[in-house]
Amino acid sequence: MKFLLKNLNVFLDAALRPADILITDGIVAAIGQNLLAGGDVAVFDFHGAAALPGLVDPHVHLREPGYAYKETIRTGTLAAAHGGYTAVCAMPNLKPVPDTLENLREQLDIIARDAAVTVRPYGAVTRGEAGGELSDMEALAPYVAGFSDDGRGVQSEALMRAAMEKAKALGRPIVAHAEDESLLQKGWAVHDGAYARARGLPGNDPESEWRQVERDLELVRETGCAYHVCHVSTKETVGLVRLAKFEGLDVTCETGPHYLTLTDDELQDDGRFKMNPPIRAWEDRDALIEGLCDGTVDMIATDHAPHSAQEKSRGLAGSLNGIVGLECAFPVLYTKLVLGGVTTLARLVELMSTAPARRFGLPGGRIAPGEPANIAVFDLNREFEIDPAAFLSMGRATPFAGWRVRGQCLMTLAQGGIAWRDTHA
Ligand SMILES: [Zn+2]
Repeated sequence: MKFLLKNLNVFLDAALRPADILITDGIVAAIGQNLLAGGDVAVFDFHGAAALPGLVDPHVHLREPGYAYKETIRTGTLAAAHGGYTAVCAMPNLKPVPDTLENLREQLDIIARDAAVTVRPYGAVTRGEAGGELSDMEALAPYVAGFSDDGRGVQSEALMRAAMEKAKALGRPIVAHAEDESLLQKGWAVHDGAYARARGLPGNDPESEWRQVERDLELVRETGCAYHVCHVSTKETVGLVRLAKFEGLDVTCETGPHYLTLTDDELQDDGRFKMNPPIRAWEDRDALIEGLCDGTVDMIATDHAPHSAQEKSRGLAGSLNGIVGLECAFPVLYTKLVLGGVTTLARLVELMSTAPARRFGLPGGRIAPGEPANIAVFDLNREFEIDPAAFLSMGRATPFAGWRVRGQCLMTLAQGGIAWRDTHA
């Protein structure tokens, strides 16, 4: 099978350069101007759209096995492709939890059958993500991007130390959902800030996040484990990670589009503004942007976490935590951060593709001859409105609904195959 993608601006050496891309049997065979197509080549003319390395999301919830009424590996990976993603890492809060090889196999089988893009699962840190004893980390290690109990912090320091020692020996990172439950108000609905106080809502104390990161960094110092902090939301966590990097610890972190673009002043009493950690204060947002610019924040993850419409229909107080993100992350960030003058397209590609691919050993991160085609073609000029009704995900809850943005995905090639294509374009 041969494809010729014509009249692109291809992301090469951190800049967009006019070129065509020829793909033969899934491999980038040639990049150059005015490439010629033979008779057996399918030609797509993109009229100057941008070809970026396929996006890589180190943190998504595909909900299968166990919660197929929220999302399936099929719908979740089609949503990924629709958003320009060619590889994602899937979190383990599933049924069964991938804490043994037998449980993980169920998930791997569905991935092999249904995934439209590359999916690398995480193994659980603890059995059932219950925080009591370690999962079968040795058996899981060859198949997973790392170990995480995402959705819950590992409360026991001794158990986290043991997990880090094992992860270090197995050459896999610990990917931490940091949350000290002893510092959490029961039934919290939003960030413990102005919005919560004005409405008498129980707040989520930012210390619950950074205190556990602080504990974990001490354990990283002891064990030398590779450590990645999920969905950083507080200014204090940014400061801790910055210092840990100065110190030379093997630490990386991610934040999400919503923490970079929203504050608790902008909350609406609607489930599409409810996630964990919550959208925080402007000081936190600004610290995250600063961290993104100075390299403290390594990558951007959507934490795509679909739920049913009913589960998201109970306002801020009663809705389940989690929003979808795969199908609007790039246009939101391109519009707010790149067109908004905060950072460059090259840095955004690093944050959304190259850095996560490198950290978690996933395919992609660059477009180069001889490599499998992991490419997302975006029209960077056309303005459009984010419409959750057009999502391929089964989840529809996003705070970005109705935003006017630029950066629409026209085609996604994952490992050389067309994973998604805008047939109207
Ligand atoms: Zn998550």
